[in-house]
Amino acid sequence: MLSKKALSISPSPTMAIDSKAKEMKSRGIDVIGFGAGEPDFDTPLHIRDAAVRAIEEGYTRYTPVTGNLELKEAIADKLKKENGLIYDPAQIVVSNGAKHSLFNTLAAILNPDDEVMIPAPYWVSYPEMVRLNDGIPVTVETSENNFFKITSADLEKAYTNKSKALILNSPSNPTGQICSEEDLGMIAEFCCKRGILIIADEIYEKLIYGNYRHISIATFSERAKELTILVNGVSKSYAMTGWRIGYTASTLDIARVMGNIQSHATSNPNSIAQKAAEAAIRGPQACVEEMRIAFDQRCKYMFRRVKAIPYLDALEPHGTFYLFVSVAETVNKMFKGQLICGSDDFASLLLKNRKVAVVPGTGFGAPNHIRLSFATSMENIVVGLDRIEAFVNELE
Ligand code: PMP
Ligand code: GLU
Repeated sequence: MLSKKALSISPSPTMAIDSKAKEMKSRGIDVIGFGAGEPDFDTPLHIRDAAVRAIEEGYTRYTPVTGNLELKEAIADKLKKENGLIYDPAQIVVSNGAKHSLFNTLAAILNPDDEVMIPAPYWVSYPEMVRLNDGIPVTVETSENNFFKITSADLEKAYTNKSKALILNSPSNPTGQICSEEDLGMIAEFCCKRGILIIADEIYEKLIYGNYRHISIATFSERAKELTILVNGVSKSYAMTGWRIGYTASTLDIARVMGNIQSHATSNPNSIAQKAAEAAIRGPQACVEEMRIAFDQRCKYMFRRVKAIPYLDALEPHGTFYLFVSVAETVNKMFKGQLICGSDDFASLLLKNRKVAVVPGTGFGAPNHIRLSFATSMENIVVGLDRIEAFVNELE
């Protein structure tokens, strides 16, 4: 009765953990959620006001399929000013969240059995989206000892004559690591030499800590820009996850095909949310910095606490709002007589016994890690870490 392809897709574990924590909370259970990959802040007032205005002014009809011109101009101006990239608004496609932008991108470029290289640990949805679009996800293994950096040897190993694209996510969900200029140069050269498309997911570009900075891989050369489909959105930077606005910047050819697909799948993204996104991108940016500073403080605290807990280890995140914690040393230990075989057991025992929701690393291609989101209040972070510490101290 059901499609074989659809049946082969597993549900998003990040979404599943978040729903589970929310459901437990609604039943009155005192659960701390470190699962959600979404800012806990409200959407800034001037952005909400723009949406209210849009409703009141009757901006409630279909817009052009790929977004209205004002928003696309705002995005093109942002890409020029902040990323040093010149795009015509016709090269921008606005969709229902960056997730939808990624999906449209893959739908636009993949033929059956094309391979897409995905560095691990990766965001949970990449391999499933590739499969849904009839492609084959090929993992590029990296090593934590090398800060999860992508090396040319790793790329070389994953490359075949069927390789069509590489998905690059810097800052990375889940590791919080950022590609250096040198890393990006090597990746750009590798892809340019072989004509591999680069899907550059830059959704966390504004959430960066310390002296690190974000560089768009499309800036490396004209050829790199031609091969890049830049993906971004307003969800993470402006606390706008529910508004569902993401976008791509690419060659005109790719943008056109994506627009055709979108015209049959969803039509335009929400007209009111487009007005809100325009206010976010064009408006004052102080709100972004305020949220970034709060994330930075939480990040430092969470990292310091986790490093002090026996058997747990982590690299310091330089971006995003995730701490990726190795639980490898807890494998084969017991909690109240129950064996921990990997992060799935760790996460489920922790949730059941100590009421802390974390995302097991299995879906990220890292079965001995868990992901903790610090997009929650400092009070929650303190209590959640106390509980994790108590849980680990009970392992034998
Ligand atoms: N890429 C990454 C790496 C993400 O973590 C997310 C968060 N869901 C997205 C894309 C999609 O974001 P959204 O659809 O909310 O714009
Ligand atoms: N990107 C977020 C996360 O990784 C939100 C959930 C999702 O879209 O998968 O948790």
